[in-house]
Amino acid sequence: MNNGKEVLIHQQFEELVQTFPGLALSQDAPGRWVIRGTLSFSATFQTMTIADAFSILIILPDDYPDSPPAVQETGGRIPSNFHQYGDRTLCLGAPVEVIRRFKVDSRLVTFVKTLVVEYLYGFAHFETHGILPFGELSHGCQGIRDYYQDAFSTDNVHITLALLKVLADGTYRGHHLCPCGSGNILRKCHGPILLCLLKHQPKERFLRDATNVLYSLEKFELADFDWGLLPKQLKLEFDEMARKRASQEKCD
Ligand SMILES: [Zn+2]
Repeated sequence: MNNGKEVLIHQQFEELVQTFPGLALSQDAPGRWVIRGTLSFSATFQTMTIADAFSILIILPDDYPDSPPAVQETGGRIPSNFHQYGDRTLCLGAPVEVIRRFKVDSRLVTFVKTLVVEYLYGFAHFETHGILPFGELSHGCQGIRDYYQDAFSTDNVHITLALLKVLADGTYRGHHLCPCGSGNILRKCHGPILLCLLKHQPKERFLRDATNVLYSLEKFELADFDWGLLPKQLKLEFDEMARKRASQEKCD
C-alpha cells in the first residue's frame, strides 16, 4: 500500500468536497479509489447559466495523479451514444487535450470544475436545446482530428498525419525538413508545437491518435491516400492485413 498516494488522495478529496459537498470517497477494492455521489453545479458559458445535478462516479487510475481520472454518469440520464467510450466512461475531450489540461493543474477540484462540469453543462444544454453549446465538445475520431488540425494550424489531414507520424515514430530532429511542406526545418516551423505535444503523452498514444485520424477519413479522402504518411507501426499492421487478405483471395 502506498501511503504517500493515499495521503494525496485524501487531501485532494478534502479540497474537492469544499466545492462539491455531495461527493464521497471510498475504495471499491483495496487500492482502487473512487468518488461517487451527486455533483451539483452552476456554470455560465457565453452568458447562459445552467444549474444542474448529476449522479457520477469518478475512478482514480492506478497511476493517479500521472493520468487523469475516468468519470461515469450513474443516474442513467446520459444515453450511451452521447460522447462516451465503450466502457461508459465519459469522453471529456480529445484524450491528448484532457491529459494536457490535467497536467497543467492536476488537482481533483480543478479536474471536476473544468473538464467534468464543462461536459455535464454541454449535455444539459444539449438536452434542453438539442445542440452542444461550444465547439470543444466535438469528440471521437473527428474530435481528435479537429484537435490536431487546430494544434498544427492546418485543415489538411495529410499534413496532420505527417506531423503525427513524427510524434508516433519518435523521429523528431530540429534540423529535419518540416513535413508540412513549408520548406523550413522543423525547429523553425512545426517544431515547437511538436515538442510541446511530446511532453504530454508517450509515443504509443500518438500512434492511437493517428489511428483515430485515419479512421476519420472520408471515402474520397482515402482514394488518393499516401500510406507512407502512417506511423511505421500502423503501416505494418495495415500491410499485414493486406497480405492476409491477398493470401486468402489466392486460396479461394
Ligand atoms: Zn511545418
